[in-house]
Amino acid sequence: MEASLGQKQRQLEFPSVTLSHVSSSPSAPLPLAASASFAAAQPGGHCLRFQDPSSTDPVLDLDLRISQIFRLGSAELLCVSQESGATDADEKPFSSAIKIGFRTEDESKSFLSAFEQLKHGVVSPRSGGALENGSLIAAKSKFDHKIEATSAKMYFHYYGQLLHQQNMLQDYVRTGTYYAAVIENRVDFNGRVVVDVGAGSGILSLFAAQAGAKHVYAVEASEMAEYARKLVSGNPLLGQRITVVKGKVEEVELPEKADILISEPMGTLLVNERMLESYVIARDRFLGPSGKMFPSLGRIHMAPFSDEYLYVEIANKALFWQQQNYYGVDLTPLHGSAFQGYFSQPVVDAFDPRLLVSPPIFHTLDFTCIKEEDLYEIDIPLNFIASVGTRVNGLACWFDVLFNGSSVQRWLTTAPGAPTTHWYQLRCVLAQPLYVMAGQEITGQLRLVAHSAQSYTIYLTMSAKMWGAGANQGGILQTSSCKLELKEPYYRLSQPQPYVLPQDQQAQQQLIQPQEVSPQIQGGTDPGMTIQSSQNSEVLDQ
Ligand code: SAH
Repeated sequence: MEASLGQKQRQLEFPSVTLSHVSSSPSAPLPLAASASFAAAQPGGHCLRFQDPSSTDPVLDLDLRISQIFRLGSAELLCVSQESGATDADEKPFSSAIKIGFRTEDESKSFLSAFEQLKHGVVSPRSGGALENGSLIAAKSKFDHKIEATSAKMYFHYYGQLLHQQNMLQDYVRTGTYYAAVIENRVDFNGRVVVDVGAGSGILSLFAAQAGAKHVYAVEASEMAEYARKLVSGNPLLGQRITVVKGKVEEVELPEKADILISEPMGTLLVNERMLESYVIARDRFLGPSGKMFPSLGRIHMAPFSDEYLYVEIANKALFWQQQNYYGVDLTPLHGSAFQGYFSQPVVDAFDPRLLVSPPIFHTLDFTCIKEEDLYEIDIPLNFIASVGTRVNGLACWFDVLFNGSSVQRWLTTAPGAPTTHWYQLRCVLAQPLYVMAGQEITGQLRLVAHSAQSYTIYLTMSAKMWGAGANQGGILQTSSCKLELKEPYYRLSQPQPYVLPQDQQAQQQLIQPQEVSPQIQGGTDPGMTIQSSQNSEVLDQ
């Protein structure tokens, strides 16, 4: 790490600058002519060093983390630093400022660029390029090419707020599973270089440091990076091995390759937010050969479900538009559109796994080898055997991810019946239900198409195949399709949550194990459901 930083430092020297104090009573006189250079400083920061050309001793060292830079003129900059002498608790910190003059405007711009990039923990390959008034201009990255600027702005604004990070930290299933996966697999972290992809508050970096990481680069694009810096420096025993790098993983440069990546890039239905793509890009940019990924794979699980209450609830929302005399206005021309609109929202809530009509199937995304482009469109063929005769109202989905540690394999699951996470589960509700009999085959397709607002359009088709004599010819009885917007779900969380008796819960957890290919379902007691347990076991035992 130090070696490659050293190579960069050689480009960061400015042999001839002029210096003057702005303060009327400077603590130490400055030589008029000096050389300036940027040097690495511990822990993880950089300093700006001025030297008198006639001596080898530095005349002034400024810590970039407590310094700011401004353009005064075409070849003149102002550097303001918090006075380091203000250590007395009673003494308010004050600032000192120096004016730095350059031989040319280009030199001043190069200096400004180097200053900003090192201050923000970014060592850009374009370091030394011309920059406008202190702003950091990177070549348009893959992220900028595919994501709308307004979407990205809102996204990083959201994650820049502590309340949203707290929400994730308070999901104890999530955070506790990450903690256990890291600590139980100390051997994968001890003495290793780690990159935390989308570090947020820096919590996973701190876990990695607890597990003995040699160094952790915590890359975070939002303003949360500043809070992560605070958290890291407030935990100095761990923090001295963590460098917070503010920027997108698609854009920042790191001084060394990683042995292991850790990240929590999962959104609703695993893929929402399109952060898996950033995780894969980080793999290709930062992970050394035979490096590990935590998590290493994710699976989307799917099963048809029957939930009459949910269907009626959604359909009823559009009833408003069936009024023929709303203050004298006939609203019915818009009923069809409103109905469609409500059914285009995937439903996010925690549902009772007894609503599942057949054992689930899953689709695996292997983060260690998937190509970024493979995540632009995900096609999943559907094939189920109904366990009961019922009305199928749509497709229920959830996901899990695997921490494939050298000591312990651990799954983080968001399955129905398992302890609820902040992701809940997701259901795509068909405007036209399907009628199936026990043993009947349900086929179809789930197609997820990524868009530039960091989400996906969902295309779902489900068909109930011919039953009985005609089945061998593959004839199809009924098909139902819908298009849904993953970015605009219906959060149905104010509804009463399904209550599961402790013994049922235990049984269900045994049945819906994330490791298992086809968890089974239980018979229902809800009057709104048509599932019968005797039929279930008959069909599932086949
Ligand atoms: N790792 C933290 C936060 C997870 S949320 C935790 O587990 O608690 C995902 C974080 O990744 C957000 O803070 C978001 O701002 C950041 N992020 C998303 N895309 C990113 C990208 N392309 N580059 C850097 N950070 C990104």
